[in-house]
Amino acid sequence: MQNTYIWRLIPSNQPVVIRSCPKCGNHSEYESTGNFRINANQNNIDVWLIYQCCKCKSTWNMEILSRIKSKSINKELYNKFLKNDQELARFYAFDLVTHSRNKSNLSYENITFEILADRFTLSHQQENIWIELICDYPLDIRLDKILSKQLGISRELIKKMGNNGQINGIGIRDITKVKVNNGMLINILL
Ligand SMILES: [Zn+2]
Repeated sequence: MQNTYIWRLIPSNQPVVIRSCPKCGNHSEYESTGNFRINANQNNIDVWLIYQCCKCKSTWNMEILSRIKSKSINKELYNKFLKNDQELARFYAFDLVTHSRNKSNLSYENITFEILADRFTLSHQQENIWIELICDYPLDIRLDKILSKQLGISRELIKKMGNNGQINGIGIRDITKVKVNNGMLINILL
């Protein structure tokens, strides 16, 4: 498509898990340590990702693999667990399937990110601009926040542009509520 610009959202940290902490006695934020714990005997392997309370460092282990037959585990994957591969730990920290299985209460409140964007300005000659969002990880972030930050205009103006159809796209009904997702296409009419 002509006039299409790619914006890639890159989180600079990871979401935290809100849990009741036995030491702090209330709901605390737990962050991933990036380290795995492995329990292996002759027959079975269990793997967890270790989280710790941001305040008191109490740990919580998030189950990654449970009772996997030692013979059936992928050697390359197992080596990554052994050496605490940071890419893999990051993958699980964002993985909604793993979090759902662990019933974790995931919070994106603290997430910061940068946007690698094709350059253009709104004062550009073009009247019809498409933006494609690329997010390698699921991010629970509102679209108007991203647009406001990247276009350098207020959320109030974004809202106005959404209401009068100047900002639109598939699945975008209410610009103040829609969350970003991978592959999202946004059309801006000037
Ligand atoms: Zn604590």
